[in-house]
Amino acid sequence: MLTNDQLGKWDRESFFHPSTHLGQFARGEAPQRIVTGGEGVYITDRDGNRLLDGFAGLYCVNVGYGRQEIAEAIAAQARELSYYHAYAGHGSEASITLAKMVMDRAPDHMARVYFGLGGSDANETNIKLVWYYNNILGRPEKKKIISRWRGYHGSGLMTGSLTGLELFHKKFDLPLAQVIHTEAPYYFRRPDTAMTEADFTAHCVAELEALIESEGPETIAAFIGEPVLGTGGIVPPPEGYWPAIQAVLDKHDILLIADEVVTGFGRLGSMFGSDHYGIKPDLITSAKGLTSAYAPLSATIVGQRMWDVLMQGTDEYGVLGHGWTYSAHPIGAAAGIANLKLIDELGLVQNAADTGAYLAQTMRDALGAHANVGEVRGEGMLCAVELVADRDSRRFFDASEGKGAKVVAAMLERGVIARAMPQGDILGFAPPLCLTRAEADEIVSVTADAVEAVLG
Ligand code: PMP
Repeated sequence: MLTNDQLGKWDRESFFHPSTHLGQFARGEAPQRIVTGGEGVYITDRDGNRLLDGFAGLYCVNVGYGRQEIAEAIAAQARELSYYHAYAGHGSEASITLAKMVMDRAPDHMARVYFGLGGSDANETNIKLVWYYNNILGRPEKKKIISRWRGYHGSGLMTGSLTGLELFHKKFDLPLAQVIHTEAPYYFRRPDTAMTEADFTAHCVAELEALIESEGPETIAAFIGEPVLGTGGIVPPPEGYWPAIQAVLDKHDILLIADEVVTGFGRLGSMFGSDHYGIKPDLITSAKGLTSAYAPLSATIVGQRMWDVLMQGTDEYGVLGHGWTYSAHPIGAAAGIANLKLIDELGLVQNAADTGAYLAQTMRDALGAHANVGEVRGEGMLCAVELVADRDSRRFFDASEGKGAKVVAAMLERGVIARAMPQGDILGFAPPLCLTRAEADEIVSVTADAVEAVLG
């Protein structure tokens, strides 16, 4: 067996890690962790640590680690048919069965599902479909996409543009010209503290309307948003937000893409965030929870009004020129089937609602009154603790102090993984949906200890 030193050296010399400070990592200044196993909500590493994964990897291991049913399904699929493509009407029992299972769970007005590999490529597919749709309808000028500041939609050229976080634009010549951003529905950071949630919703809606008017509604094709902002800070929307946004979009004939890569398949305590908030999207993006990351797979779920136009398009212009080699990969599909069955059998959507509410409440009880905690918020199995230098004035810490990252590091020393969200001192929690109350207690007590150790 290779020694840790050997692996560590190869890692620093050979491996280009995503979302990493390259120089610090290469020079040995940034930490590395070689993960060896996982069971339930815990992972283990080569240094002998056992860590409670309060972020389910990257909010994706929804059924928890080490599920033998999924491992067996993957192995059986690999033995029987490891791969065949899905072009020109080809499929496998696994891909067809999963398509049926996804459509059985999707909101009623959805018509078909297209499978890709991850959230970024699913959103690339979505934007192409939106453009195709408007070209078929004879309005080639209706192409711009509105996204929100703090939204996260991927790291590709278009999806990195949709992402409303500076880190993903800086020095990459993004965003692309067709993308415009509007206000994030982030009540805690509202422009005026006197605003009620309803006032703030009205403000976000007015900002959107003003943007649409100034650009010209005939140039705007779609609006994309996560039901709950994820990477931008784990922020549930203010009261009445989604119905009000949807009404504006409907008025201007603008398509709605619900990016449910995080929220799809149960994380909010509903099968989809669209059901949760009464949204009627034209496209739903999903990935992570579809297979609980046992294999890479994404799903673009297409609503009926788009589907009708896509069909019209291929009748007029022939085969749709869009597809990946690995679309609907049988191994991903087998993982998806076993995963969705487990979610049902274990009642994980309900547990996300119940234990998620318990986690948020326990966190609020432990930290809600701390002088440096501005807000504890949550929805389903998502929770965030927003740190502030001063809670009355809602003054934030200077970013250079890295308070959030320090608290997360102190939590790691105590055996719990949380995520320092990339913009602001926000501790993010998105545990596997199988979390128990005892495990939620462990997350909360470690968070409280770490906040105390770093901030006093
Ligand atoms: N959309 C959302 C809402 C996401 O959270 C993510 C990933 N965190 C993506 C898209 C991109 O997915 P991927 O990293 O699988 O490309």
